[in-house]
Amino acid sequence: MKNNERKLVRKNILNLAPYSSARDEYEGTEGVFLDANENPFGTYNRYPDPQQNKLKIRLAEIKNVKSNQIFLGNGSDEVIDLAFRIFCEPNIDKALTFTPTYGMYEVSANINSVDLIKVPLNKEFQIDRNSVQSYFSDANLKLIFICSPNNPSGNLIQSEDIEFILENFQGIVIIDEAYVDFCPDATFAAKLIQYPNLIISQTLSKAWGLAGLRLGIALMNEEILSFYNKVKAPYNISSVNQKIALETLNNREEFQENVKAILTEKEILIQELQKIKMVKKIYPSDANFLLIEVENANQIYAQLIAKQIIIRNRNSVVENCVRITIGTADENKKLINALKTGSNG
Ligand SMILES: *Cc1c(COP(=O)(O)O)cnc(C)c1O
Repeated sequence: MKNNERKLVRKNILNLAPYSSARDEYEGTEGVFLDANENPFGTYNRYPDPQQNKLKIRLAEIKNVKSNQIFLGNGSDEVIDLAFRIFCEPNIDKALTFTPTYGMYEVSANINSVDLIKVPLNKEFQIDRNSVQSYFSDANLKLIFICSPNNPSGNLIQSEDIEFILENFQGIVIIDEAYVDFCPDATFAAKLIQYPNLIISQTLSKAWGLAGLRLGIALMNEEILSFYNKVKAPYNISSVNQKIALETLNNREEFQENVKAILTEKEILIQELQKIKMVKKIYPSDANFLLIEVENANQIYAQLIAKQIIIRNRNSVVENCVRITIGTADENKKLINALKTGSNG
């Protein structure tokens, strides 16, 4: 697909005159600011940079993209929601995803009154090309969400299958790479130029350890970015968030140490889990969590809750499976001990 993104955008968004904030018009940082009805006293009295330029310049270096290919959202949730609002006419257009996957695509589709087609992943949690191809010709299908590494299964989706969709689908493809910092070679960021219909969603919530901050990162071509900027709330990232995010991004050593520690702990946890009888299968994971099949997921979930160890029961989406986040060495030991004592008594 080449350069027809504009045709995919809803008419009301194409024609939208965006809110023009006072800080959009004057780009300098020095001066007497009497334009925005702010309070002249205080520390956080000024509106934040609506384009988060400092943060984007730093992120562009880290992600190896241009800063005008970056959108920042109030968590990935905003990135997902804006895709629906920009491209999908309520009650007419559709989106598609591969299940089991992250629940937010469906919630956001429902909020925006957009039909979400759910195509099941195969037994290895990979895309079956034949099951998706027939949908490509539907002119009302605007968005395809691919979560890679996938939540809750933990695996990367095969890159050839993602490329097959990028090559053959005329709409927008959103690759949710929330966990890609745990397998950085797998990112599709280098493909942004080749595929103008591609949006890559990342986040500071996982490997960067800033879930409390709410900062989603989306990489996209300039054209799509212009619509994201038009539709977003003018000051969607607070100055406190911009400041803390920048400080954290400047401490890449700690980030890399944490990622390494989590990946080491993951290997230890896998070995320990393999020794536990009621663990039937540990799915391969490229992320910071494990999907495991157990004899009785509801029972194990309840048994751990009683010991104040909270895991995610995924029995309703993958039979008898639970999803376990990799914690600290100490937390993982507590989990293993609780599983061992539980199975004996
Ligand atoms: C955790 C997660 C996110 C992150 O969402 P934020 O709103 O950025 O915290 C996004 N996608 C998936 C698949 C996730 O599991």
